[in-house]
Amino acid sequence: MRVEILGCSGGIGDDRHTTAFLIDDDILLDAGSGALRLSRAALARIDHVFVTHCHLDHILALPLLLDSVAGERSRPLLLHALPEVLEILKDHIFNWRIWPDFSRIPSVKQAFLRYAPISIGQTLALPDASGARREFTPIPAFHVVPTSGYLLRGPLGSLLFTSDTGGHSALWEIAERQPDLRHLLVDCSYANAQKDIAIASRHFYAEELAADLAGLKNCPEVWVAHLKPGAEAEIMRELTAALPLDANFAIRPLPQDQILEI
Ligand SMILES: [Zn+2]
Ligand SMILES: [Zn+2]
Repeated sequence: MRVEILGCSGGIGDDRHTTAFLIDDDILLDAGSGALRLSRAALARIDHVFVTHCHLDHILALPLLLDSVAGERSRPLLLHALPEVLEILKDHIFNWRIWPDFSRIPSVKQAFLRYAPISIGQTLALPDASGARREFTPIPAFHVVPTSGYLLRGPLGSLLFTSDTGGHSALWEIAERQPDLRHLLVDCSYANAQKDIAIASRHFYAEELAADLAGLKNCPEVWVAHLKPGAEAEIMRELTAALPLDANFAIRPLPQDQILEI
């Protein structure tokens, strides 16, 4: 199972893109501006989009994706998210004012888009064309709107993506319960000086994340994502300085275009 990071920044500018991960060639996890980098052929191959939450930096490519390739597709694109997230998208995006409701175009029976609610802890298995294991399980997050992270599992192991979140105990309990955890992709949007904004907007800041990570035992690779543009180096400096010297994992900023295998 191949996870390609199309975008993972907390903003845009100078080729930064917001959260969108391409999984193999048929699944998107979040549809931020990173998804705008795909060719039309690649966009037309997307059969499933998992959305963590409805903030613009995670969904902005979705309406245009549908409009650009729907006519070439013979089956609906499935949009997987918590029911509360789907309701917000229906009310505020696919409402015929901001954008058409593609779950009714060209007809309700043969729509371009189908809403597929999924609950926290519910595992959806979507084997690839060769039958290899690919599993998606929403996990809790602590953010200002309904949000889930995702636990992904492929033939080689698992990957935990926190989505946008501040610290919360369920995250670390879930991480501990995955003996095959290979990659942790964790939000750290702010440096310590922006602690108040981080707390108000429910994102990790450097010191908070370092304190939580100190107890992490079973994950070899920690990738830091959603760094605010321009503050990347400062956040990573503060994180590294606050971590214990004997931490048994590598911690790095998640680069755009990185490919992770699970
Ligand atoms: Zn958010
Ligand atoms: Zn975000």
